[in-house]
Amino acid sequence: MSGESAKVFVITGPSGVGKGTLIKQLLERVPDLALSVSATTRAPREGEEDGVDYHFLTEDQFQERIGAKDFLEFATYSGNHYGTLNSELDRCLEKGRSVVLEIEVQGATQVRAARPDSVQIFIAPPDESVLRERLRGRGTDSAEAIDRRLKTAEQELAQQDDFDHRIVNDDLDQAAEELESIVRGAVGPEA
Ligand code: 5GP
Repeated sequence: MSGESAKVFVITGPSGVGKGTLIKQLLERVPDLALSVSATTRAPREGEEDGVDYHFLTEDQFQERIGAKDFLEFATYSGNHYGTLNSELDRCLEKGRSVVLEIEVQGATQVRAARPDSVQIFIAPPDESVLRERLRGRGTDSAEAIDRRLKTAEQELAQQDDFDHRIVNDDLDQAAEELESIVRGAVGPEA
């Protein structure tokens, strides 16, 4: 993927929809893509590593980075802040690599305004009950946190028509194939 065709892919959708799993498959299928590591004030989950899964920041550090205009986008989600650092994007794009952002819907909307050339993909569940099951099955969130995430999911699903592309994650392989085809279609045949 040469510099000319390096693109920003925004992959969004409600928590529990399987964005992470789909993106993992996408990175295997299109190996030249880079994944942007977001910053967050959320506490690390078991097994998560600083600088790999997220840049884990304190509230003060996050506010400082907002003040320094270091974020391409940021949002508050379920009581924590999340944001994409401009430096993450530049690091990839300067090397001519297309970059994938896995972010929630408010952030995706901000990226659309800042970078109208970004490719925006919304991942939707086959139906809303699947989200609750997946969030429970993941075992990383309390019942209260799951309820908060589901409430947010309703608002996020209401915005799905604003996105260039929508993929229903019913069958994982099929959804991964659709995602690959959207990405390859945008970056061109050399990817
Ligand atoms: P989690 O706490 O489950 O890792 O992430 C919660 C939500 O925040 C997910 O929907 C995830 O996609 C989103 N998220 C992760 N990083 C970012 C980011 O940099 N910006 C925004 N706006 N959302 C993010």
